[in-house]
Amino acid sequence: MRGVVGVLALQGDFREHKEALRRLGLEAREVRKVGDLEGLKALIIPGGESTTIGKLAREYGLEEAVRRRVEEGTLALFGTCAGAIWMAREILGYPEQPRLGVLDAAVERNAFGRQVESFEEDLEVEGLGPFHGVFIRAPVFRRLGEGVEVLARLGDLPVLVRQGKVLASSFHPELTEDPRLHRYFLELAGV
Ligand code: GLN
Repeated sequence: MRGVVGVLALQGDFREHKEALRRLGLEAREVRKVGDLEGLKALIIPGGESTTIGKLAREYGLEEAVRRRVEEGTLALFGTCAGAIWMAREILGYPEQPRLGVLDAAVERNAFGRQVESFEEDLEVEGLGPFHGVFIRAPVFRRLGEGVEVLARLGDLPVLVRQGKVLASSFHPELTEDPRLHRYFLELAGV
């Protein structure tokens, strides 16, 4: 299968996501401009710096184009960390930060404190079982809309959520060699 899955390649660890998809036998398309969305069924938004991703996506017209495709129901999204922040309806404390706003949630950036730059924790993912979570200056989901389902928590805090064909994680499955979450997303997207 070629060309139906894209990775937003404006900033962040998009190469790691491409590699994760390659392990599943998929050659993903790097998305940098509106035309790159043509024919895509699924798009991954990588981790990185959500402010930068948001600014560039707005500047290149991708914010509007991706939002339209998601609202039409023709594009599935998987955002990890900064990607999840960009997709959220509300970014706590940063009302002006550019965002897509398709995930009915409020996210808190750097929610584990600036001192805790990164850590790893074993999670239990609904339907998948144990999953090793790599957290890097990670956000958490604070307020979730009715249509949002929690698939994993760290303690009490939701760290993996799904709303229809939109999947968002606080952690980085692309930094492990475990393909199950990427596979789950492809199934969700109907790829
Ligand atoms: N803290 C970063 C942000 O707010 C996200 C970090 C990451 O993607 N690993 O954009």
